[in-house]
Amino acid sequence: MKIARTKAALSRALEAFGRDGERVALVPTMGCLHAGHLSLVTRAQKHADRVVVSVFVNPMQFGPAEDLSRYPRDVKGDLAKLKSAGVDLVFLPRVQDIYPAGFQSKVLVSDLSRGLCGTARPGHFDGVATVVLKLFNLVRPRIAVFGEKDWQQLQVIRALVRDLEVPVKIVGAPIVREPDGLAMSSRNVYLSRDERALALGLSRGLRRVAKACQATPGLSSAAARKIFLGEFAAAKNVRVDYFSCVECNTLLPLQKHVAGKTLFAAAVFIGKTRLIDNIRA
Ligand code: AMP
Repeated sequence: MKIARTKAALSRALEAFGRDGERVALVPTMGCLHAGHLSLVTRAQKHADRVVVSVFVNPMQFGPAEDLSRYPRDVKGDLAKLKSAGVDLVFLPRVQDIYPAGFQSKVLVSDLSRGLCGTARPGHFDGVATVVLKLFNLVRPRIAVFGEKDWQQLQVIRALVRDLEVPVKIVGAPIVREPDGLAMSSRNVYLSRDERALALGLSRGLRRVAKACQATPGLSSAAARKIFLGEFAAAKNVRVDYFSCVECNTLLPLQKHVAGKTLFAAAVFIGKTRLIDNIRA
């Protein structure tokens, strides 16, 4: 497994792949890798001859009051996991490689970036779209794999690629969960034991909502919300940032469940840790 820490090292490594006409897939990550990330690698390996993983904690997608400085990092552990997963190349840029002095451009995918996580995190998806387009231009992959855990991000990237004719095929990968249902997330390491137990309400609440939709076709979004919020009714130290019922492609609000087209998405603060999850129904 090659490791490129600079743009020059990256392009040297990519040249070798290019000479043999190999198809390259990119998996962008912020590191502190878990089985969810590695599932994207496996998916990428099915679609391409060479898999490149980028590990970059992107300052542009963090708000001023967010956890950029304490975001979990484990480069050594990440490299070991990526090596045993059979990754070909890891790109570990420094902030100044991605955002050199004078950097002033921003990619805005307007409507899709607004609701859900975009409401509480203004500018977040501009940061995501900007870094992803930059990584696409540096790596020039044929395919890129993103997790459905960040469903809104996946839709933003799909729109970016479609709107700007970026020649990269976007592949989505299902959410990987802990055995008890908690969606895997690098931020789960922040949780104390008690918080970990509370955090389970997020996936449980979404599952209960999806089940209620099966029992009651056309369930109203208000009824779905009530079911979801019921999970946290007695919980202290929890704040539901949002619970939304939206059309899964446009992310526009739905008044009631529409079979096969509904995405229930939520973000919840467990103590100081903001966790997200979603379910399609
Ligand atoms: P992150 O490192 O959190 O920026 O995530 C990098 C990529 O991994 C994104 O495409 C995420 O959607 C994806 N990802 C993170 N957690 C999971 C998970 N539990 N299951 C599937 N994909 C995930």
